[in-house]
Amino acid sequence: MNTAESVKTYQIRTFGCQMNVHDSERLAGQLEEAGYVPAGESATPDLVVFNTCAVRENADNKLYGTLGHLRPMKEANPAMQIAVGGCLAQKDRGRIVQRAPWVDVVFGTHNLGSLPVLLERARHNSEVEVEILESLETFPSTLPARRDSAYSGWVSISVGCNNTCTFCIVPSLRGKERDRRPGEILAEVQALVAEGVLEVTLLGQNVNSYGQEFRDRAAFSKLLRACGPIDGLERVRFTSPHPAAFTDDVIDAMAETPNVCHQLHMPLQSGSDRILSEMRRSYRSARYLSILDKVRAAMPDAAITTDIIVGFPGETEEDFEATLEVVRQARFASAFTFQYSKRPGTPAAEMPGQLPKQVVQERYDRLVELQNEISWQENKKLLGRTVELLVATGEGRKDAETHRMSGRARDGRLVHFTPGGPAVDREVRPGDIVRTVVTYAAPHHLVADGDLLSHRRTRAGDNVEAGLRPKTDGVSLGLPSFGAPAAALSTTSGCGA
Ligand code: SF4
Repeated sequence: MNTAESVKTYQIRTFGCQMNVHDSERLAGQLEEAGYVPAGESATPDLVVFNTCAVRENADNKLYGTLGHLRPMKEANPAMQIAVGGCLAQKDRGRIVQRAPWVDVVFGTHNLGSLPVLLERARHNSEVEVEILESLETFPSTLPARRDSAYSGWVSISVGCNNTCTFCIVPSLRGKERDRRPGEILAEVQALVAEGVLEVTLLGQNVNSYGQEFRDRAAFSKLLRACGPIDGLERVRFTSPHPAAFTDDVIDAMAETPNVCHQLHMPLQSGSDRILSEMRRSYRSARYLSILDKVRAAMPDAAITTDIIVGFPGETEEDFEATLEVVRQARFASAFTFQYSKRPGTPAAEMPGQLPKQVVQERYDRLVELQNEISWQENKKLLGRTVELLVATGEGRKDAETHRMSGRARDGRLVHFTPGGPAVDREVRPGDIVRTVVTYAAPHHLVADGDLLSHRRTRAGDNVEAGLRPKTDGVSLGLPSFGAPAAALSTTSGCGA
């Protein structure tokens, strides 16, 4: 623990999705503005912040278990503070301090910006502070951020979701969709690029509905195109699109904007139209597959990935077979497969026909086996191909043994490569760009063991080498802020869109 009163150390423990990971960057940015510094690995921090997730079953048991472990530390150091934020805090509110009275601050998903003030107030009054707002107070992107990566950054384009998928808790915890103005988004992208970042991922629960708040149906494709001319921005990705709202202008923008990567992560969730309807997902499998056909016609090299839930309430063997059939036709590069589990507070948790664990497990195993085989076949098609990689920090545990490094190809595939050959300029560093040839394909990664064809040192690589990470100020152009209460909240869960 740091005893110098002016320099307090912090640690943030993040659970859940990219949205939370990015929110944690904002929390770190604010804490550093308030004078905190990151705690070293072994040090006992003055402040521990939990950024929680409510999506997984038993998320609360895990949180309370971890908070229990911190109790003796808190008792030994009463000045240490513990804060709990994020989706579970939004859901459980005051219950958190009833179950863990040694917690100092509870804050929700709509008031990330209040954390330093709440900590100060709790310290000053020697009292627990619980502040949960029902709607967004300030768009999180107006807060400063301490970025996790020197070469790759998240940029929020919207928060919340207007859909009502019956398995999803996001709309009830994150509220209705609020869109950021394009000028603010592009200013943040530019600020990141000015710090040396090469790749941005545009982030929203449902990126295709971006613009509905200011009534521009083509806003998302325009945004992609507007990223094109940004000098130094080499890769643009986005997550997640929703099949119901996916329009052809987005495909055209992806194909025609050179720095937009030919990668699409589009959640399928189920291949059964009956189950899609029970999930309140408004597209059907034929529409889903037709989008993939169009994407591949425009970008034959596109890597398409998905999310699939197995064992939704009432799912029959026939429904599951329909999912397998869509998976066979879709030929995903990879899929995130989930076994359905009840998420309290969602309509699906109350539905009849909840399936026994062994049925869900057996179907899940069959799906994983099929998808692994397809992923492997798709990866084998890349043998002998040249790939451009953005070198990453420690993406594979085995890299140290094999003397390989890892990177992501433009289509998002993970490639372990040998950083050798005459093209290497001094040393390859995370954040640099290399080109190499694929020599081996496994279901979930590729290997490139020949000499590099090229190696480009980048500013991002210099920053990694110097231990620097970008810090961006909050980006706001003084456009209307998000103060109005959201209308009735929908009661759903989960997400990947
Ligand atoms: S699954 Fe995605 S699209 Fe559906 S309600 Fe949740 S956040 Fe919205």
